[in-house]
Amino acid sequence: MKRLFSLLLAITLLTACSSSEPDKRTILAMDTVISITAYGRAAQGGIESAESVIRELDSLLSVTDEESEIFAINRGGRAADLSEHSISIIRKALELGEMTGGALDITIYPVVRAWGFTVGEYSVPDSELIYSLLENVDYSKIVLDDAGISLPDGAMLDLGAIAKGYTGDTAADALREAGVKSALLDLGGNIQTVGAKPDGSSWRVAVNDPFDPQGEPFGVIELDGSAAVITSGGYERFFEQDGKTYWHIIDPHTGYPADNGLVSVTVTGESGAVCDGLSTALFIMGRDAALELLDSLPGYEALLVEKDGSVTVTKGLLSSFSLTGKEGFTLVDTI
Ligand code: AMP
Ligand code: MG
Repeated sequence: MKRLFSLLLAITLLTACSSSEPDKRTILAMDTVISITAYGRAAQGGIESAESVIRELDSLLSVTDEESEIFAINRGGRAADLSEHSISIIRKALELGEMTGGALDITIYPVVRAWGFTVGEYSVPDSELIYSLLENVDYSKIVLDDAGISLPDGAMLDLGAIAKGYTGDTAADALREAGVKSALLDLGGNIQTVGAKPDGSSWRVAVNDPFDPQGEPFGVIELDGSAAVITSGGYERFFEQDGKTYWHIIDPHTGYPADNGLVSVTVTGESGAVCDGLSTALFIMGRDAALELLDSLPGYEALLVEKDGSVTVTKGLLSSFSLTGKEGFTLVDTI
């Protein structure tokens, strides 16, 4: 009897250890649906701590929440005693601004707001207004030091281009610290993975069709271990006026939505914050400048889709990317 009991106990423990059923949680935060899927015995605890960092970052970084730290910075022009998260995300955004020749500029907020993208009341602003708002857009004038941050007059921050990637990194760290070896975070279509799948096989991440985002994906990326896959696409937020489409990714040099033939950019790499900042910036820079910059960034690969359906894949991603066969897409040579 005793032997049978220990045998049963051993079987139960074994099943618990090797359980391939993940724990899953879906939450609404950062203006989107976020789902966390984690495997193994540490999954529950990992999900708890991932959710709490997501909620913390959501309340710090929101540009519209009057209680947020970013809202306070935007109202006052200067804020001391910033949280470590705000300091490190702003620092990362400034580095990426430098790296992308100002394509990523977190002082773009007044322009984004004038187009109505923050609250969804869209309209094409008067060109004079765009012109005058652009005078205050310049990330290089932000002073960030131990005393806090100071913005030039009229400047306001928008961390929307990098917040989800930074949050994915922080949530993935929380899962790892809780002992989770295998997990997948989906932040409104931006994917971050922890480790490999529990059976050791690759994660397969679908890439949205920018012409039909609710439909079947046009491609799949296979990921071996921890990584981020982050997409910026005009289809994610846009409006139409007088037969023309205007989207939420604004070229800081013109004040108008980026218009260079790209319709979506997907970036993969280790850091979600870098992938997120890069995906937005490369979308603005256009295909050729994007490829040139990527060439100098080992570990970061991209998939660039143009409005005629041509798909450029950087060399390091070629072997792990495949088209699903959906009509309208063709791979173009990168060499
Ligand atoms: P993403 O979806 O990551 O490409 O980020 C797009 C969001 O970033 C927009 O909704 C704006 O809030 C913000 N944004 C738009 N243009 C820029 C820009 N040039 N630099 C920084 N942030 C931007
Ligand atoms: Mg981005």
